[in-house]
Amino acid sequence: MSEEREYSLAGNKTFCNFCPGYCCYRIESASLYIMAEDINRMARHFNITDGEVRKRYIEGKNTFKTREDGSCIFLANDRMCKRCSIHEARPTQCRNFPYDKPCPYLENASLLAVIQPRIEQSLIVPTQND
Ligand code: SF4
Ligand code: SF4
Repeated sequence: MSEEREYSLAGNKTFCNFCPGYCCYRIESASLYIMAEDINRMARHFNITDGEVRKRYIEGKNTFKTREDGSCIFLANDRMCKRCSIHEARPTQCRNFPYDKPCPYLENASLLAVIQPRIEQSLIVPTQND
């Protein structure tokens, strides 16, 4: 007798370890909110002042700068998974997302259609002739 098992890739945060970081791209409907305590955690991580963190990494008052493709500046573009380069010092929202709910990025084909091509582009390794 086969056991019926409820299974969802998106329902388990462990899957984040194997995900290329879909939620680390800025899209119209979602923005990353950085709090003062996040700035301070990063300042301690980099051993610089809170003000220096704001100057180097923050856009406006409370979100990270992004690259041209919308990716967070801390997203490593040399690997397929575990791509947050400041994982230990990442902001609270990054830690908590998707709040023990199914990950919307893995459940929503239209979101993936927007982000997946950017991820593939970022992982292209130039050949010697390029
Ligand atoms: S929250 Fe979703 S999109 Fe973000 S890393 Fe985890 S599985 Fe990937
Ligand atoms: S800080 Fe890390 S987890 Fe948060 S958006 Fe940037 S790369 Fe993703």
